[in-house]
Amino acid sequence: MNPGAKELEEVYVGTRDLRQFLTVHDEARITEALDRAQRLKDLIGDHTVWNVNSTAVGGGVAEMLQSMLAFSRGLGIDARWLVINGSPEFFQLTKRLHHWLHGESGDDPELHSMERELYEATLRDNAVALCSRVQPGDIVLLHDPQTAGLASELTRVGAHVVWRCHIGHDSSNAQTELGWDFLRPYINDVPAFVFSRRSYAPSWCAPDRLFVIPPSIDAFSAKNQELDSSTVGSILVHTGLIEGPMPVKGSCRFTRIDGTSSRVERHADVVRLGRAPLYDAPLIVQVSRWDPLKDMMGVMLGFERMIEHTPDEKAELVLAGPNVHSVSDDPEAPQVFEQVLSRWYELPDAVRERVHLVNLPTDDIDENAAMVNALQRHAAVVVQKSLQEGFGLTVTEAMWKGRPVMASAVGGIVDQIEDGVSGCLLKDPQDLDEFAGVLETLLSDSELRRRIGTAARERVRERFLGIRHLLDYADLIESIVS
Ligand code: UDP
Repeated sequence: MNPGAKELEEVYVGTRDLRQFLTVHDEARITEALDRAQRLKDLIGDHTVWNVNSTAVGGGVAEMLQSMLAFSRGLGIDARWLVINGSPEFFQLTKRLHHWLHGESGDDPELHSMERELYEATLRDNAVALCSRVQPGDIVLLHDPQTAGLASELTRVGAHVVWRCHIGHDSSNAQTELGWDFLRPYINDVPAFVFSRRSYAPSWCAPDRLFVIPPSIDAFSAKNQELDSSTVGSILVHTGLIEGPMPVKGSCRFTRIDGTSSRVERHADVVRLGRAPLYDAPLIVQVSRWDPLKDMMGVMLGFERMIEHTPDEKAELVLAGPNVHSVSDDPEAPQVFEQVLSRWYELPDAVRERVHLVNLPTDDIDENAAMVNALQRHAAVVVQKSLQEGFGLTVTEAMWKGRPVMASAVGGIVDQIEDGVSGCLLKDPQDLDEFAGVLETLLSDSELRRRIGTAARERVRERFLGIRHLLDYADLIESIVS
């Protein structure tokens, strides 16, 4: 191997049995998936399905790979996961490309001299390491801009290459164009592109090579597994999010993905005036990163607007995000939290005592997920007032829990919610009156909340769980291999 080429990290993936889905799908669906898996195995023989990305932990892509690859391995498919190496400068550049494809300028609206060379040199070294493992006829799924530059070398050694982009913007602007101009030379000739929405594909992407595959959630993870109402209550009381009887020892249990049982031990860091909400106070909840595009501030102001209209409303608001003081790759988070906090100080007392700003501990990612799970399950209404959104997994997660979700009609949220049926869409994410009005309607009508929640869970069962996702990938691989 070239002395400059470092070994690639291979991420350990366990195996999971697709029959786990028997608790959420009927037997026919499982049988269909097992048959398709057999057909795929017959087609690809002993070839490996490689997935290549730039991180083993953190973020939705890593979470999805863990679950999808484990089910694939359980089906007898040799699905594997490799992580590329890169310098901080390389990842700074690829983070900028990420922002550009979202239509934002990121740390810089321009490309600088030598940056293309840096990108190509980094991926050249990675390609050497990768090509020593990939066999002709293997399938290689390259994830996101960080890996696009590997495509031509992999094609040269006889692999079937797919570029899977998890990000995008509904319309093009100067930044998206710059991002695509940068990436196009590397991916122009790949046999298949995958996007989460059709509108995220650049205009030059040939329709016969374009596949649209929305993400999915893992119904059995600590984030989404069933929790009974007493476990939900005890987790929320223990973490300090609601007030109620002290949890009985051992009652805050959840199951990790490896099947081991664990309990929530840590507490959330909460800013509030006065007491935590009582167990039966209706909670309005937004869970997201402290990112300007998630508009936590707008949720708080919309809530204030609603209280102005209906002062007797008893609902309380919880804005929860990952701890801003934890080590994080989200440098904007502390600043966004500070802005929300200083505006919170200016709220009238009657509103402020009902707005709870929550930093969830992130030391143990499954424990954090169990807290999010409990919070989403306990919510009367889940909000996602994003100004922009790639897909919006928090929406899917809450819908799966049968919660009525009120969310901005942006990005992938509109693929998830059918307005008035499986959730409520906010036409203008900036309009606080619309926000307050829809919230009032939902809070005042428990039957409507129940009906929407039931339809929401059904929609996720049909479209956004792992089996659909695996079948989409089976279609894709069949079409490029055969
Ligand atoms: N999330 C979490 N803990 C938190 C806040 C958020 O696990 O304290 C999760 C949330 O449940 C979701 C993901 O982070 O799974 C956010 O994904 P989404 O697609 O909503 O937005 P993104 O952050 O990718 O823009």
